[in-house]
Amino acid sequence: MMPKECPSPDTAYLLDVLRDLIAFETVAPPGSHYQEVVDYVLSIFKSMGFETEKLVMPQEVFQSRCEDSRLVGDRVNMTARLDVGAQETVAIYAHLDVVPAGSGWSTDPFQMVKKNGRVYGRGVSDCKGSVGSLIAALKALLDSGRRPRYNLLVLLTTDEEVGGYSGLCYLTDIGLVKGDCMLCMDGFSDDLVIGSNGIITWEATVHGISAHSGSSFLGVNAVEKSVPVMKAVLALKKEVQSRRSSLAANSSLEAVGVKNLTAILNINMIHGGIKENIVPDKCVLRGDRRVIPEETMDEAMEEMARAIGSQDADLKFFPGYPPMHMNPDHPWIAEVREAVKRGMGFLPRLSGSQGSLDQAYATEKTGIPTAVYGVGRQMESNIHGPNENVRITDLEGFARFLIELLAEE
Ligand SMILES: [Zn+2]
Repeated sequence: MMPKECPSPDTAYLLDVLRDLIAFETVAPPGSHYQEVVDYVLSIFKSMGFETEKLVMPQEVFQSRCEDSRLVGDRVNMTARLDVGAQETVAIYAHLDVVPAGSGWSTDPFQMVKKNGRVYGRGVSDCKGSVGSLIAALKALLDSGRRPRYNLLVLLTTDEEVGGYSGLCYLTDIGLVKGDCMLCMDGFSDDLVIGSNGIITWEATVHGISAHSGSSFLGVNAVEKSVPVMKAVLALKKEVQSRRSSLAANSSLEAVGVKNLTAILNINMIHGGIKENIVPDKCVLRGDRRVIPEETMDEAMEEMARAIGSQDADLKFFPGYPPMHMNPDHPWIAEVREAVKRGMGFLPRLSGSQGSLDQAYATEKTGIPTAVYGVGRQMESNIHGPNENVRITDLEGFARFLIELLAEE
Protein backbone atom coordinates (compact mmCIF):
# COMPACT_ATOMS: atom_id res chain seq x y z
CA MET A 1 0.00 0.00 0.00
CA MET A 2 1.23 3.47 -0.87
CA PRO A 3 1.88 5.66 2.18
CA LYS A 4 -0.81 8.31 2.47
CA GLU A 5 0.07 11.84 1.43
CA CYS A 6 0.59 14.04 4.49
CA PRO A 7 -1.71 17.05 4.94
CA SER A 8 -0.15 20.50 4.41
CA PRO A 9 0.04 23.16 7.10
CA ASP A 10 -1.94 26.37 6.52
CA THR A 11 0.69 29.14 6.29
CA ALA A 12 -1.82 31.97 6.89
CA TYR A 13 -2.99 30.30 10.09
CA LEU A 14 0.60 29.62 11.19
CA LEU A 15 1.51 33.30 10.75
CA ASP A 16 -1.68 34.45 12.53
CA VAL A 17 -0.79 32.35 15.57
CA LEU A 18 2.82 33.52 15.48
CA ARG A 19 1.71 37.17 15.23
CA ASP A 20 -0.45 36.69 18.34
CA LEU A 21 2.39 34.97 20.23
CA ILE A 22 4.87 37.76 19.38
CA ALA A 23 2.40 40.41 20.63
CA PHE A 24 2.52 38.94 24.16
CA GLU A 25 5.57 40.69 25.60
CA THR A 26 6.75 37.67 27.56
CA VAL A 27 10.09 39.24 28.36
CA ALA A 28 12.34 37.52 30.89
CA PRO A 29 13.53 39.01 33.14
CA PRO A 30 11.12 39.97 34.73
CA GLY A 31 8.88 37.36 33.04
CA SER A 32 5.76 39.29 32.09
CA HIS A 33 2.42 38.31 30.52
CA TYR A 34 2.90 34.62 31.36
CA GLN A 35 -0.74 34.15 32.43
CA GLU A 36 -2.02 35.71 29.20
CA VAL A 37 0.22 33.75 26.82
CA VAL A 38 -0.51 30.46 28.60
CA ASP A 39 -4.28 31.14 28.51
CA TYR A 40 -3.94 31.81 24.78
CA VAL A 41 -2.11 28.57 23.88
CA LEU A 42 -4.20 26.59 26.32
CA SER A 43 -7.44 27.54 24.59
CA ILE A 44 -5.97 26.50 21.21
CA PHE A 45 -4.88 23.08 22.49
CA LYS A 46 -8.23 22.61 24.22
CA SER A 47 -10.06 23.36 20.96
CA MET A 48 -7.93 20.68 19.25
CA GLY A 49 -9.13 18.10 21.80
CA PHE A 50 -6.13 18.12 24.13
CA GLU A 51 -6.46 17.75 27.88
CA THR A 52 -4.76 20.88 29.17
CA GLU A 53 -3.36 22.02 32.47
CA LYS A 54 -2.10 25.41 33.58
CA LEU A 55 0.58 25.11 36.24
CA VAL A 56 1.39 28.04 38.49
CA MET A 57 4.52 27.38 40.53
CA PRO A 58 3.74 27.47 44.28
CA GLN A 59 5.26 30.45 46.11
CA GLU A 60 7.27 28.26 48.49
CA VAL A 61 8.94 26.43 45.60
CA PHE A 62 9.64 29.75 43.89
CA GLN A 63 11.23 31.13 47.04
CA SER A 64 13.40 28.08 47.70
CA ARG A 65 14.52 27.35 44.12
CA CYS A 66 14.50 30.65 42.22
CA GLU A 67 16.91 33.08 43.84
CA ASP A 68 16.72 35.44 40.87
CA SER A 69 15.52 38.78 42.29
CA ARG A 70 14.81 40.08 38.77
CA LEU A 71 11.81 37.75 38.41
CA VAL A 72 8.42 39.27 39.20
CA GLY A 73 4.97 37.67 39.34
CA ASP A 74 3.60 34.15 38.90
CA ARG A 75 5.68 31.52 37.08
CA VAL A 76 3.16 29.86 34.71
CA ASN A 77 3.62 26.80 32.48
CA MET A 78 1.29 24.61 30.44
CA THR A 79 0.92 20.93 29.62
CA ALA A 80 -1.40 19.51 26.95
CA ARG A 81 -2.06 15.79 26.42
CA LEU A 82 -3.68 13.97 23.55
CA ASP A 83 -4.18 10.27 24.12
CA VAL A 84 -4.88 8.54 20.81
CA GLY A 85 -4.46 5.04 22.22
CA ALA A 86 -1.00 4.67 20.69
CA GLN A 87 1.69 2.51 22.28
CA GLU A 88 4.15 5.33 22.68
CA THR A 89 4.09 8.95 23.78
CA VAL A 90 6.18 11.79 22.35
CA ALA A 91 6.88 14.76 24.61
CA ILE A 92 7.33 18.04 22.72
CA TYR A 93 8.88 20.99 24.50
CA ALA A 94 9.36 24.72 23.79
CA HIS A 95 9.50 27.91 25.86
CA LEU A 96 7.22 30.95 25.54
CA ASP A 97 9.44 33.59 27.15
CA VAL A 98 11.83 35.79 25.17
CA VAL A 99 14.87 37.92 25.94
CA PRO A 100 14.33 41.70 26.21
CA ALA A 101 14.08 43.51 22.86
CA GLY A 102 17.23 45.62 23.30
CA SER A 103 17.98 48.40 20.82
CA GLY A 104 18.75 48.58 17.10
CA TRP A 105 15.46 47.28 15.72
CA SER A 106 14.15 48.59 12.38
CA THR A 107 10.61 47.54 13.32
CA ASP A 108 8.54 47.19 16.52
CA PRO A 109 9.92 43.96 18.06
CA PHE A 110 6.50 42.97 19.41
CA GLN A 111 4.56 43.50 16.17
CA MET A 112 5.39 40.70 13.77
CA VAL A 113 6.41 42.15 10.39
CA LYS A 114 6.56 40.25 7.07
CA LYS A 115 9.33 41.37 4.73
CA ASN A 116 11.21 39.72 1.86
CA GLY A 117 10.12 36.18 2.65
CA ARG A 118 10.87 36.51 6.36
CA VAL A 119 9.04 37.48 9.51
CA TYR A 120 10.65 39.77 12.08
CA GLY A 121 9.91 40.08 15.80
CA ARG A 122 11.36 39.18 19.20
CA GLY A 123 10.97 35.42 19.56
CA VAL A 124 10.10 34.51 15.94
CA SER A 125 13.08 32.16 16.01
CA ASP A 126 13.72 31.61 19.75
CA CYS A 127 11.34 29.97 20.04
CA LYS A 128 7.79 31.11 19.33
CA GLY A 129 8.22 30.23 15.64
CA SER A 130 8.50 26.56 16.61
CA VAL A 131 5.32 26.88 18.70
CA GLY A 132 3.41 28.53 15.83
CA SER A 133 4.57 25.78 13.47
CA LEU A 134 3.60 23.07 15.99
CA ILE A 135 0.09 24.46 16.36
CA ALA A 136 -0.36 24.76 12.58
CA ALA A 137 1.01 21.22 12.10
CA LEU A 138 -1.30 19.67 14.70
CA LYS A 139 -4.32 21.54 13.34
CA ALA A 140 -3.61 20.37 9.78
CA LEU A 141 -3.07 16.81 10.97
CA LEU A 142 -6.15 16.60 13.19
CA ASP A 143 -8.44 18.45 10.72
CA SER A 144 -7.46 15.96 8.00
CA GLY A 145 -8.85 13.13 10.12
CA ARG A 146 -5.41 11.47 10.33
CA ARG A 147 -4.49 10.16 13.73
CA PRO A 148 -1.11 10.98 15.25
CA ARG A 149 0.88 7.77 15.60
CA TYR A 150 1.99 8.73 19.10
CA ASN A 151 0.15 10.01 22.12
CA LEU A 152 1.26 13.60 22.48
CA LEU A 153 2.41 15.55 25.48
CA VAL A 154 3.12 19.22 24.76
CA LEU A 155 5.06 21.19 27.39
CA LEU A 156 5.16 24.97 26.97
CA THR A 157 7.18 26.73 29.63
CA THR A 158 8.54 30.08 30.75
CA ASP A 159 11.78 31.45 32.27
CA GLU A 160 14.07 29.48 29.94
CA GLU A 161 15.85 32.70 28.97
CA VAL A 162 16.93 33.41 32.53
CA GLY A 163 18.29 29.88 32.88
CA GLY A 164 15.73 29.39 35.58
CA TYR A 165 14.41 26.41 37.45
CA SER A 166 10.73 27.34 37.10
CA GLY A 167 10.16 25.97 33.57
CA LEU A 168 11.14 22.54 32.29
CA CYS A 169 13.29 21.66 35.33
CA TYR A 170 10.32 22.21 37.66
CA LEU A 171 7.99 20.17 35.43
CA THR A 172 10.63 17.40 35.43
CA ASP A 173 10.89 17.35 39.22
CA ILE A 174 7.13 17.15 39.74
CA GLY A 175 6.97 14.17 37.38
CA LEU A 176 5.22 15.81 34.43
CA VAL A 177 7.92 15.11 31.84
CA LYS A 178 6.98 11.64 30.66
CA GLY A 179 7.15 9.79 27.41
CA ASP A 180 9.07 7.34 25.25
CA CYS A 181 10.91 10.00 23.30
CA MET A 182 11.21 13.75 23.36
CA LEU A 183 11.59 16.60 20.90
CA CYS A 184 13.01 19.85 22.24
CA MET A 185 12.04 22.61 19.77
CA ASP A 186 14.44 25.15 21.30
CA GLY A 187 16.99 24.64 18.56
CA PHE A 188 17.95 25.57 15.03
CA SER A 189 16.95 24.33 11.59
CA ASP A 190 20.55 23.86 10.44
CA ASP A 191 21.54 20.87 12.59
CA LEU A 192 19.86 18.15 14.59
CA VAL A 193 21.36 18.61 18.05
CA ILE A 194 21.96 15.46 20.09
CA GLY A 195 24.16 16.80 22.87
CA SER A 196 25.30 19.87 24.74
CA ASN A 197 27.89 21.10 27.20
CA GLY A 198 27.12 21.36 30.88
CA ILE A 199 27.73 24.61 32.76
CA ILE A 200 29.25 25.39 36.14
CA THR A 201 29.60 28.95 37.41
CA TRP A 202 32.51 29.42 39.84
CA GLU A 203 33.54 32.13 42.27
CA ALA A 204 36.89 32.58 44.02
CA THR A 205 37.17 35.10 46.86
CA VAL A 206 40.61 36.30 47.89
CA HIS A 207 40.87 37.99 51.29
CA GLY A 208 43.38 40.63 52.40
CA ILE A 209 43.74 43.24 55.10
CA SER A 210 42.84 46.86 54.47
CA ALA A 211 45.36 49.64 55.20
CA HIS A 212 46.35 53.16 54.13
CA SER A 213 48.09 52.62 50.80
CA GLY A 214 50.89 55.00 51.83
CA SER A 215 51.89 52.29 54.32
CA SER A 216 50.65 49.36 52.25
CA PHE A 217 53.22 47.07 53.91
CA LEU A 218 50.89 47.14 56.97
CA GLY A 219 48.08 45.47 55.01
CA VAL A 220 47.56 42.52 52.67
CA ASN A 221 46.53 43.47 49.13
CA ALA A 222 43.71 41.16 47.99
CA VAL A 223 43.88 42.34 44.35
CA GLU A 224 47.59 41.57 44.13
CA LYS A 225 47.04 38.27 45.95
CA SER A 226 44.51 37.27 43.27
CA VAL A 227 47.17 37.33 40.51
CA PRO A 228 48.59 33.85 41.34
CA VAL A 229 44.99 32.58 41.62
CA MET A 230 44.31 33.83 38.09
CA LYS A 231 47.58 32.30 36.89
CA ALA A 232 46.50 28.92 38.29
CA VAL A 233 43.10 29.23 36.58
CA LEU A 234 44.76 30.16 33.29
CA ALA A 235 47.16 27.19 33.53
CA LEU A 236 44.17 24.91 34.00
CA LYS A 237 42.29 26.70 31.19
CA LYS A 238 45.02 25.67 28.77
CA GLU A 239 44.67 22.03 29.75
CA VAL A 240 40.84 22.09 29.85
CA GLN A 241 40.51 23.74 26.46
CA SER A 242 42.70 21.14 24.79
CA ARG A 243 39.87 18.62 25.40
CA ARG A 244 37.49 17.74 22.60
CA SER A 245 34.27 15.79 22.62
CA SER A 246 33.64 13.07 20.05
CA LEU A 247 30.47 15.02 19.25
CA ALA A 248 30.71 17.43 16.30
CA ALA A 249 30.31 21.16 16.94
CA ASN A 250 27.39 22.89 15.25
CA SER A 251 27.74 24.01 11.65
CA SER A 252 28.27 27.72 12.43
CA LEU A 253 31.32 26.80 14.56
CA GLU A 254 32.50 24.28 12.02
CA ALA A 255 32.54 27.14 9.52
CA VAL A 256 35.17 28.91 11.67
CA GLY A 257 37.26 25.76 12.10
CA VAL A 258 35.89 24.36 15.39
CA LYS A 259 35.17 20.74 14.53
CA ASN A 260 34.16 19.23 17.88
CA LEU A 261 32.54 20.35 21.12
CA THR A 262 35.22 21.91 23.30
CA ALA A 263 35.63 22.13 27.06
CA ILE A 264 35.90 25.73 28.30
CA LEU A 265 37.18 27.57 31.38
CA ASN A 266 36.88 31.37 31.65
CA ILE A 267 37.54 34.17 34.13
CA ASN A 268 34.73 36.56 33.24
CA MET A 269 34.44 38.98 36.17
CA ILE A 270 36.76 40.61 38.68
CA HIS A 271 35.71 42.88 41.52
CA GLY A 272 38.23 44.28 43.97
CA GLY A 273 39.14 47.51 45.66
CA ILE A 274 37.19 50.63 46.55
CA LYS A 275 39.67 53.48 46.11
CA GLU A 276 43.15 54.08 44.69
CA ASN A 277 44.66 54.87 48.08
CA ILE A 278 43.16 52.01 50.11
CA VAL A 279 44.76 48.56 50.21
CA PRO A 280 41.88 46.28 49.10
CA ASP A 281 40.73 43.69 51.60
CA LYS A 282 38.75 41.59 49.10
CA CYS A 283 38.89 40.53 45.46
CA VAL A 284 36.25 38.32 43.87
CA LEU A 285 36.82 36.45 40.62
CA ARG A 286 33.93 34.81 38.77
CA GLY A 287 33.74 32.71 35.66
CA ASP A 288 32.31 29.62 34.03
CA ARG A 289 33.35 26.14 33.12
CA ARG A 290 31.74 24.37 30.16
CA VAL A 291 31.75 20.62 30.60
CA ILE A 292 31.82 18.37 27.51
CA PRO A 293 29.68 15.20 27.59
CA GLU A 294 32.79 13.02 28.16
CA GLU A 295 33.48 14.86 31.45
CA THR A 296 31.32 14.92 34.57
CA MET A 297 30.27 17.99 36.52
CA ASP A 298 31.85 16.57 39.72
CA GLU A 299 35.18 15.82 38.05
CA ALA A 300 35.30 19.34 36.62
CA MET A 301 34.71 20.90 40.05
CA GLU A 302 37.24 18.62 41.78
CA GLU A 303 39.85 19.36 39.13
CA MET A 304 39.44 23.09 39.58
CA ALA A 305 39.52 22.85 43.37
CA ARG A 306 42.81 20.92 43.07
CA ALA A 307 44.29 23.42 40.61
CA ILE A 308 43.83 26.42 42.87
CA GLY A 309 43.86 24.50 46.14
CA SER A 310 47.32 25.71 47.12
CA GLN A 311 46.17 29.34 46.80
CA ASP A 312 44.61 31.28 49.64
CA ALA A 313 41.16 31.67 48.08
CA ASP A 314 37.62 30.56 48.97
CA LEU A 315 36.25 28.68 46.01
CA LYS A 316 32.52 28.19 45.41
CA PHE A 317 30.70 26.37 42.63
CA PHE A 318 27.20 26.89 41.28
CA PRO A 319 26.48 23.88 39.05
CA GLY A 320 23.89 24.58 36.33
CA TYR A 321 22.58 22.28 33.59
CA PRO A 322 24.50 19.02 33.08
CA PRO A 323 26.00 17.95 29.74
CA MET A 324 23.87 15.82 27.42
CA HIS A 325 24.86 13.23 24.84
CA MET A 326 22.43 11.06 22.95
CA ASN A 327 23.56 7.93 21.19
CA PRO A 328 23.64 9.00 17.50
CA ASP A 329 22.49 5.50 16.50
CA HIS A 330 19.33 5.62 18.61
CA PRO A 331 16.25 4.90 16.42
CA TRP A 332 14.51 8.10 17.63
CA ILE A 333 17.38 10.20 16.25
CA ALA A 334 17.14 8.43 12.89
CA GLU A 335 13.35 8.92 12.88
CA VAL A 336 13.61 12.66 13.56
CA ARG A 337 16.38 13.04 11.00
CA GLU A 338 14.34 11.30 8.29
CA ALA A 339 11.30 13.45 9.11
CA VAL A 340 13.46 16.59 8.77
CA LYS A 341 14.57 15.35 5.38
CA ARG A 342 10.99 14.87 4.22
CA GLY A 343 9.70 18.12 5.77
CA MET A 344 12.61 20.53 5.27
CA GLY A 345 14.12 18.90 2.20
CA PHE A 346 17.60 18.15 3.56
CA LEU A 347 19.21 15.62 5.88
CA PRO A 348 20.54 17.61 8.85
CA ARG A 349 23.99 17.08 10.37
CA LEU A 350 24.09 15.65 13.87
CA SER A 351 25.89 18.02 16.20
CA GLY A 352 26.23 19.35 19.72
CA SER A 353 25.71 22.71 21.36
CA GLN A 354 28.57 24.60 23.05
CA GLY A 355 25.89 26.28 25.15
CA SER A 356 23.87 24.55 27.84
CA LEU A 357 20.27 23.39 27.63
CA ASP A 358 17.56 23.02 30.27
CA GLN A 359 16.53 20.03 28.18
CA ALA A 360 19.72 18.29 29.39
CA TYR A 361 18.38 18.45 32.96
CA ALA A 362 15.11 16.80 31.90
CA THR A 363 16.91 14.20 29.78
CA GLU A 364 19.34 13.29 32.56
CA LYS A 365 16.58 12.97 35.18
CA THR A 366 14.05 11.08 33.04
CA GLY A 367 16.32 9.12 30.67
CA ILE A 368 13.96 9.90 27.78
CA PRO A 369 15.77 9.78 24.40
CA THR A 370 15.91 13.36 23.14
CA ALA A 371 16.39 15.22 19.88
CA VAL A 372 16.76 19.01 19.68
CA TYR A 373 15.47 20.62 16.50
CA GLY A 374 13.77 23.97 16.01
CA VAL A 375 13.14 26.97 13.80
CA GLY A 376 15.80 29.52 12.79
CA ARG A 377 19.25 29.70 11.24
CA GLN A 378 22.33 30.17 13.36
CA MET A 379 23.99 32.59 10.94
CA GLU A 380 20.98 34.68 9.91
CA SER A 381 18.18 34.67 12.49
CA ASN A 382 20.00 37.04 14.90
CA ILE A 383 18.65 35.35 17.97
CA HIS A 384 18.82 37.55 21.11
CA GLY A 385 19.83 40.50 18.86
CA PRO A 386 17.89 43.20 17.02
CA ASN A 387 15.80 42.27 13.96
CA GLU A 388 15.39 38.62 14.99
CA ASN A 389 13.92 36.90 11.97
CA VAL A 390 13.04 33.60 10.40
CA ARG A 391 12.42 32.46 6.84
CA ILE A 392 8.72 31.80 6.20
CA THR A 393 9.77 28.72 4.20
CA ASP A 394 11.53 27.43 7.36
CA LEU A 395 8.35 27.88 9.42
CA GLU A 396 6.40 25.95 6.77
CA GLY A 397 9.15 23.33 6.48
CA PHE A 398 9.25 22.89 10.24
CA ALA A 399 5.47 22.38 10.34
CA ARG A 400 5.78 19.81 7.53
CA PHE A 401 8.60 18.09 9.46
CA LEU A 402 6.31 17.80 12.51
CA ILE A 403 3.48 16.36 10.40
CA GLU A 404 5.89 13.84 8.85
CA LEU A 405 7.15 12.90 12.31
CA LEU A 406 3.77 12.57 13.98
CA ALA A 407 1.29 11.40 11.31
CA GLU A 408 0.19 7.79 11.33
CA GLU A 409 1.32 5.93 8.23
ZN1 LIG B 1 15.23 29.39 23.29
